[in-house]
Amino acid sequence: MRSYSLIAPAKINLYLEIIGDRPDGYHELSMILQSIGLADQIDVHSISTDSIRVRCNHPQVPTDKSNLAYRAAELMAMQFPQAFAQYGGVEISINKQIPVAAGLAGGSTNAAAVLVGIDLLWKLGLTQSELEELGGTLGSDVPFCVAGGTAIATGRGDQLSPLPSLDNIYIVLGKYRSLEVSTPWAYKTYREQFGDSYIRDSDNLAARANAVHSGAIVKAVVDKNPGEIAQKLHNDLERVVLPVYPQVLELREVFANQEGVLGTMMSGSGPTVFALFESQQEAEQVKLQVKEAIIDEDLELFVTRTITHGIKVVSSV
Ligand code: ATP
Repeated sequence: MRSYSLIAPAKINLYLEIIGDRPDGYHELSMILQSIGLADQIDVHSISTDSIRVRCNHPQVPTDKSNLAYRAAELMAMQFPQAFAQYGGVEISINKQIPVAAGLAGGSTNAAAVLVGIDLLWKLGLTQSELEELGGTLGSDVPFCVAGGTAIATGRGDQLSPLPSLDNIYIVLGKYRSLEVSTPWAYKTYREQFGDSYIRDSDNLAARANAVHSGAIVKAVVDKNPGEIAQKLHNDLERVVLPVYPQVLELREVFANQEGVLGTMMSGSGPTVFALFESQQEAEQVKLQVKEAIIDEDLELFVTRTITHGIKVVSSV
């Protein structure tokens, strides 16, 4: 095969707790990550030159080496120089549907798709854990994006424990097109404001992060109980993002006041806010109500649902 098309789903954080600073300079995190139906399409083709090329339909997404998909291809070329020499370069086309810099792991899922796509193009036969390990060198969310579904993520977010898949929750996402939140800024500000309460000793750090395994939200996920999950949603980064972005706070409050909403929360470092529902009909209804409550062309609303997979091949030629 010389070409693969892959679906690269976004994720939301059902839970995000910041535990402390790790010796490697990253934050120790405790998260529950969930793949959602909103997805980009990634096409990877072998080309006869030895170059890596990226194309994208979205004007805000760079197509040079700063694109995470480019960096994923470069990593594969460096790790597998013989295959690169044998099969040639790669052209990557990104059909971007996931809002950019939104807290939905758009770049990370594109990188994961390129790892999976090149593994297939170059017939490398890498295992899921080998792909995840390569992904971890590109970004903390990349390993989760490979297999997706529902998972606990600790460490930098790269230590994954799969949970039973949730396929029964509907979601409305709200994102202001012109609003972007930098993930490094959100974590840095959190450290400045709340670093005093961090756990410092390294044994306790991991133990505290792992406590999520026996926490109430994991029980709710195992029970596949949307109402309970929605009651236990949590995101520490709301403490720094909401005060600085009043529009995001307002959107969250508008969601919270609609009938049928089981729970609402900001995803990752924001600014996307999501609300959970038991049925698609309720989700569609609330989308309309929020549109009427906040009359602003800049606000994009999407209805989607939880899904049970990460990167998926849709066709090959
Ligand atoms: P996360 O939830 O993992 O923190 P995010 O959803 O907040 O990520 P992205 O959509 O990945 O953020 O975009 C963050 C920045 O990365 C953007 O400003 C964009 O310029 C850059 N970027 C690089 N590669 C990509 C890509 N393939 N898709 C989207 N953005 C990319």
